[in-house]
Amino acid sequence: MKKKCLVTGGAGFIGSWVVDYLIKKGYKVVIVDNLSTGNTKNINKKAKFYEIDIRKKGVEKIFKKEKPDFVYHLAAQINVRESVRNPIKDAGINILGTLNILNNCVKFKVKKFIFSSTGGAIYGDGCKIPTPETENELPVSPYGITKLSIEKYLHFYKLTYGLDYVALRYSNCYGQRQNSKGEAGVISIFLDKILSGEQPIINGSGEQTRDYVHVKDVAKANVMALNLSGIYNVSTGVETSVNEVFNRIIKIMKRDIKQIHSLEVKGEQKRSCLDSNRLLKKGWKVEYSFDKGIKETIKYFENLKKEEKNDI
Ligand code: NAD
Repeated sequence: MKKKCLVTGGAGFIGSWVVDYLIKKGYKVVIVDNLSTGNTKNINKKAKFYEIDIRKKGVEKIFKKEKPDFVYHLAAQINVRESVRNPIKDAGINILGTLNILNNCVKFKVKKFIFSSTGGAIYGDGCKIPTPETENELPVSPYGITKLSIEKYLHFYKLTYGLDYVALRYSNCYGQRQNSKGEAGVISIFLDKILSGEQPIINGSGEQTRDYVHVKDVAKANVMALNLSGIYNVSTGVETSVNEVFNRIIKIMKRDIKQIHSLEVKGEQKRSCLDSNRLLKKGWKVEYSFDKGIKETIKYFENLKKEEKNDI
């Protein structure tokens, strides 16, 4: 019989790719998402969809009816700046909402819990670069704190209830279906601005660095995680500055756009680049170089713009 995966946040950017890859691999998929940032357009037609908040009691009925073998937990408040503005709301979704899912996993005997954690917001500045999983975590935002807290809860749930888990610490994901209207996702924001004829703005000097991993590589890591346990960085190990991102995008798109900078965003991490050797040793590969990933992403946003124009 086909095994069943329940994917929270399956209507979102990364979650929808995880759903697509699981379905390709022959799994049955059930999605739980409240569509706060997700989109029904992202939902795979072969998946069953429940529109519900992960904090609601009604989640229990879904677990009871569907009896999933595995749970992928991607639903979250993902905006770092929003977590600084409103840490109570952030903790309500990212901690209490996750505990609601975890309690149901225990109650309905889920075999494995695969958690979307963060490497970009968990280690803080001043770490060894590229940063391995063994480095001290010192998150500097409520968002990073809630993600690290859940990793600690996972340890507790494993010890106390035997719930097996994998925590995947992503670096900065980019690619098709990323929301370009939020504050996160510099690549999708730049592409949206350029294709709308607007000036993209670089925060601060633009010398801050990130490790950009393509969403399809991230989705593959999630599928692989079914055969793993523990904590893994999911990243390319390549450090790229925001200025470089900007320059490479305009070069590929053959646009003549000047760099314009705003004031630095306070509290923004200076450098982030993760060591993914632990996952590479298990057989995971980075299949998307930055240029390959950016080209696919540009095509996607160009088509999206065309569709938007046709809708008007
Ligand atoms: P996203 O906003 O596209 O996806 C989140 C999904 O969760 C959305 O579909 C949203 O509607 C849903 N959701 C949010 N709150 C919910 C709630 N209370 N109840 C039910 N559903 C809810 O974001 P994403 O970039 O795809 O992120 C997916 C996961 O990966 C998140 O847990 C995020 O913290 C983690 N992550 C993302 C990145 C990145 O670079 N995008 C990096 C590290 C970790």
